[in-house]
Parts: sequence; C-alpha cells; structure tokens
Amino acid sequence: MQLKQLLKKIISENDIYCKVCFKRITNISLHKLFGNPLICDNCFKEMDPKFIKFKIKDISCLAIYEYNQKIKELLYQFKGCKDYELKDVFFENFKTYLNIKYQGFVIVFAPSYKESELERGFSHLQEMFSFLRLKKLDILEKTNNIKQANLNFEERKNIYKYIKLRQNNDVLTNKKILLVDDVYTTGNTIKACIKELKKFNPKKISVLVMSKRIIKNDEIR
Ligand SMILES: [Zn+2]
Repeated sequence: MQLKQLLKKIISENDIYCKVCFKRITNISLHKLFGNPLICDNCFKEMDPKFIKFKIKDISCLAIYEYNQKIKELLYQFKGCKDYELKDVFFENFKTYLNIKYQGFVIVFAPSYKESELERGFSHLQEMFSFLRLKKLDILEKTNNIKQANLNFEERKNIYKYIKLRQNNDVLTNKKILLVDDVYTTGNTIKACIKELKKFNPKKISVLVMSKRIIKNDEIR
C-alpha cells in the first residue's frame, strides 16, 4: 500500500503541463529542485528573456524581455482574455534573483484605468508582480482610458496630464521606489510617473518592466 502511494505520488509529480502550450513537461530534473515548473523549455525559449538595461536620465531601468511576438500573445491572453493562470509565467525563473536585487524597495504600479480592471476582474500588474515580497502601493491613477497606440506623437508626449497620484501624502518620502509596468513602449507613461513620484523626494527610483518594445526610428511618427 505504501509503495503504491509512493508510485502514485511520483506519477502525479511528473504529470506537469506547461501553462502556455499545455504540453506535458518531461524534462523536469533541474526544475524539481526548485518546485514544479510552469512553462516548458520550448515556451521559455520563445519568450526569450534578454535582461535589457537602459536609463531614463539617472534612473536605472530593467526590462526582462523584448516585446516579441510570444510576449505579445501571452500578454494579450493574460490581460485581454483574462487568463489568470498566466500570472506567474512571466517572471517564473527570475523570482529569487529579482527579490534579492530589489530588496528594500517599495513597489509602485504604473497606472491603469480602473474600469478596465474592474471589467477584467483582476489587476494584471498586481498579479504579475505578486512574486516580489515587497510592500506594494497602488497610488498612481490614469484619469482617462487612453490607449497610447491611438495617440499621435504630440498627444503621447502629453500623457502626463492624465496621470495622477491618488493620495497626496508622504508615504514615498525617503523610500526606494520600484516602478513596475508590463510593456515599455515610448517611455512617456513611465516618465510621467517618475515626474509625479519625484514630487515626494524618494531616496531612489528604479524601473522594472516585464518587456520593452524596441522602436525603430521610422515608427515614432
Ligand atoms: Zn510550453
């Protein structure tokens, strides 16, 4: 009986399916050391993490992925199709590293339009970054449901008009802030957020984005 239970346990432990392609994950020897894997090696390769470091003036920014076709599809499935199960796939293999890297920071989420979140039933940023064991503040707000893709170059530069701090207090003073977002495109949203956050004299601001769109010069206008 005990042997039977043990075998059952081993089989069930090996019965792990990729949350992205739903294929059975067979190569789990390494992953076993760290718990059950969520994604298969193939999907991970397609996501293609690049750890892109860049700066906005003196602020250090890190993007884990380029906004490639796979990331675009996954994000659409997660946000647009409300596939909550995907919340952990983006950072799965970097949880420990990022928790160490950003120790002592307070997370501030890039703003999203609240009605879209209510409709979706969850905040995609809060779920996606829930692996970070840091204090989290949802204090930035977008006051208009504008999509950057629908704006022209001049309008995009004015996006800061629609970004506001929800509470006017000094919770950020002298704090190390980690501003997080899913996609970095023109940087206008992040720059507008930084401008708002700086009003409270934080000790430091860093930026972590899941993905960064690489914009060619001819795409800007
Ligand atoms: Zn897969």
